[in-house]
Amino acid sequence: MNRKSTKEIQIGHIKIGGNHPIAIQSMCTTRTKDISSTVAQIKELENEGCNIVRVAVLDFEDAKSIEEIKKEISIPIVADIHFDYRLALAALDAGVDKLRINPGNIGSIDKIEIVVRKCQEKHVPIRIGVNLGSLEKDVEEKYGRSAMGLVESAKKNVKILEDLGFNDIVISLKASDVMMCVEAYELASLTFPYPLHIGITESGTKTTGAIRSSIGCGILLSKGIGDTLRVSLSSDPVEEIRVAKEILATFGYLKKPQLTSCPTCGRTQYNMIPIAQEIEAYLSHFPEKQIKVAVMGCAVNGPGEAKDADIGIAGGKNEALLFKKGVPIRKIRESEILSELKKEIELLIKKQRDD
Ligand code: SF4
Repeated sequence: MNRKSTKEIQIGHIKIGGNHPIAIQSMCTTRTKDISSTVAQIKELENEGCNIVRVAVLDFEDAKSIEEIKKEISIPIVADIHFDYRLALAALDAGVDKLRINPGNIGSIDKIEIVVRKCQEKHVPIRIGVNLGSLEKDVEEKYGRSAMGLVESAKKNVKILEDLGFNDIVISLKASDVMMCVEAYELASLTFPYPLHIGITESGTKTTGAIRSSIGCGILLSKGIGDTLRVSLSSDPVEEIRVAKEILATFGYLKKPQLTSCPTCGRTQYNMIPIAQEIEAYLSHFPEKQIKVAVMGCAVNGPGEAKDADIGIAGGKNEALLFKKGVPIRKIRESEILSELKKEIELLIKKQRDD
């Protein structure tokens, strides 16, 4: 897949844009000033595969907390700030790695310039995050609540920064209408040289949000658009990382084990679904491995349908057939399916390591 080339931007130790991998982002749901809870949540996100994390900065206590939080975590941290330029300065003093702030919301150009100069001094990029819910009045009057309106609003904010000689910029354009959001990012990728942080905002709860995000981000990624990715869910942010990883792995942008499992049907003669779920959880312990495992409901269609799998089982009555690349290897008793399959997966991973 050909990715659109964008300007390389450094966020802490992570580089985005250029040819760098698409970074997975999430946002803490804790109060930032509650340092121990925020650190605990960031560590959980880190373990799950999050590359960059954002925290809300509502006051000076939040901004100052970033310094303590940073001592405990190893991924870059982004401060989300609205309106008050002094909070942006405090976050910069606390060592934040990126600011999410719209210059158009800060007020006078003097205040914007103070923030911009400090960002330049500390090599901290700014993400302009345009949201359909907060378009400027004149933009909304001219373009309505539309993809064009989102891009025009981004243009205004980008111009403010560029006029001050600042171009360490990342852009996001958020709308909960999936197709409008897609159109806005397509337009933005033709308009700006800067990296795009993609995602569908307010996309809903775990299931609906995952579906809408997969469709929206999937269309964009298939066109090579997107440098960082956030799946926004009304759920534990750890779920956001799981969905984001699955989206990126589907496009080959991320190495991870893949589980193939059938929906089961009248042919299934064993309790397959809990086995598929447990194997999926087990595979998450090997995040970098590119192995394909299949858990199939019957031996009639299972091995053939999962021919791509490096290893798989197809259940029958009181037993299951173990197969590799569609070829039957041996039969295993139903009570031993999980332990035998896990053993085979470990052997496969060990072999990959040795090769
Ligand atoms: S693999 Fe077998 S059990 Fe699973 S859906 Fe297909 S026919 Fe049904």
